[in-house]
Amino acid sequence: MGHDGRHPMKEPSLNNLREAMVKRQIAGRGVRDEAVLAAMTEVPREEFLSPEMREFAYDDAPLPIEGQQTISQPYIVAVMTEALLLRGGEKVLEIGTGSGYGAAVLSRVAAEVFTVERIAQLAEKAADALRGQRYLNVHVRHGDGTLGWSEKGPYDAIVVTAGAPEVPEALKAQLKIGGRLVVPVGRQPDLQELLRITRISADEFRTEELLDVRFVPLVGAEGWAAKEAVEP
Ligand code: SAM
Repeated sequence: MGHDGRHPMKEPSLNNLREAMVKRQIAGRGVRDEAVLAAMTEVPREEFLSPEMREFAYDDAPLPIEGQQTISQPYIVAVMTEALLLRGGEKVLEIGTGSGYGAAVLSRVAAEVFTVERIAQLAEKAADALRGQRYLNVHVRHGDGTLGWSEKGPYDAIVVTAGAPEVPEALKAQLKIGGRLVVPVGRQPDLQELLRITRISADEFRTEELLDVRFVPLVGAEGWAAKEAVEP
């Protein structure tokens, strides 16, 4: 046992599992963006999990975190990051910080990441984990992300990691011209279609439907009301 209570012998095997995860679950299912594959190979998902969950870090599944929320399935993090069409150098907004893992992945592909989390305890924990691992280009804020983070915008890309009943207008308004918003949208709180909305001009947007997904609900002024949101 190491001085911090971890089993040091286990860590190399987690690195192997991470590489295998990227090969089988991510590249093996068609994610091709080299920067995304490199970020998924680099970022240790176990560092964003509670000690009891570390050994499951490279399972092909979402996992529970505090506040009845989830850290997304690695494949979904990769697909959503790839869908933002980042080339390096961008300013990105993430809604739904959760564990901080998705923000860490984004921070390896974009230049600067702003991320908003509704549950204070999660925002604080994620900020600690990100700071502890020196992801210094990630900025965490506690608040209602359906309203975005307008002081830091406009953004090259925005990703929402919880399911919205409709596309939040505030987020469309915080996109640069040419910017992309990737958001799960569905009239049921736990089943959505992943959309990519591109801002063509000041008032023109193009919408593409990417795939069916299942996220915890986006709760807020431009999301579900807390009482409507049945946690999956
Ligand atoms: N990206 C996260 C990760 O890597 O761990 C996964 C996030 S989890 C699937 C969705 C998160 O969205 C939850 O932590 C939830 O509290 C948060 N959320 C829900 N509604 C929100 C809102 N209006 N503003 C900000 N965060 C919100």
